[in-house]
Amino acid sequence: MEAENKRIQAKNGELLQRVQNQPPRCANCDIDILWKPTVVQGKTFCCTGCAAGGPCSCDYSLYRSTNIAGTIHYHE
Ligand SMILES: [Zn+2]
Ligand SMILES: [Zn+2]
Repeated sequence: MEAENKRIQAKNGELLQRVQNQPPRCANCDIDILWKPTVVQGKTFCCTGCAAGGPCSCDYSLYRSTNIAGTIHYHE
């Protein structure tokens, strides 16, 4: 009976990551990951480069454009 509970918890663990509003953070370079993270052995990385221990091979233009897109511009 207990084994069955554990199986359900493992399934919910996947859902919990989606429920959190905070973006995941890279375990190697510590940036907020605004795209699909790379998960290796339970750790979240921004790219396959970081997942392999570096160097980071992120396309930071994507990071920037996402931030700009999230900025609210006020018009007077
Ligand atoms: Zn990284
Ligand atoms: Zn990276």
